Amino acid sequence: MEAILSAGNLDLYYGQTQALKGVSIDIPAREVTALIGPSGCGKSTFLKTLNRMNDLVPGVRIEGEVLYNGENIYGKDVDVTRLRKQIGMVFQKANPFPMSIYDNIAYGPRTHGIRNRAKLDDIVERSLRDAAIWDEVKDRLNKSALGLSGGQQQRLCIARALAVEPDVLLMDESTSALDPISTSKIEELAMELKSRYTVVMVTHNMQQAVRVSDMTAFFLLGELV
Ligand code: ADP
Repeated sequence: MEAILSAGNLDLYYGQTQALKGVSIDIPAREVTALIGPSGCGKSTFLKTLNRMNDLVPGVRIEGEVLYNGENIYGKDVDVTRLRKQIGMVFQKANPFPMSIYDNIAYGPRTHGIRNRAKLDDIVERSLRDAAIWDEVKDRLNKSALGLSGGQQQRLCIARALAVEPDVLLMDESTSALDPISTSKIEELAMELKSRYTVVMVTHNMQQAVRVSDMTAFFLLGELV
């Protein structure tokens, strides 16, 4: 097994509260890994340590290491913006930007310096196709993303994450606010994406973990059990 991400003896404290206790895990490349466990046990916290999203929380302290392709992402020379481009994230609630569908997807590539219209057109189409939403939106690319349904918005957010060509996609309970049909579309999508991306998803739903994942990691009270 080739591990793309590897946590070693990871402890995380929010002030005085220890939210992760000695977590060690190897996450295989090009598979779907599910993180499961009761509410408050540290799943989301652990997911966010994988692209340093917890850095944004005041008073957070992290010990141990997370290796990404063998390099410690908590090392002092790490470019966090680049890291978050390589390890993208989709949140529990869809959060499209208040702009057109096209501009939502082009946003990331533009911030990384891509200006050429034909190139952006290609990226937008490829990302929306990869997120299995192209057919539903191709005739309304210049309409606001806020007019999409909840399930469509979540796939749009997946497309937006894919537009900057990440290696890894982190999904934090990305289906918990969706109806069963939208949920199954996103589950199918996660399984398709693993041919090219590594997917790590938090879920509180055991059936979802069984349906979608190659490996399931159980968290309990901050520990990986
Ligand atoms: P899960 O995803 O399994 O529901 P979380 O990772 O969200 O669990 O939370 C783990 C623990 O850390 C909980 O006790 C929670 O209250 C606490 N926690 C999460 N985020 C913060 C934060 N930003 N500040 C302080 N405590 C937090």
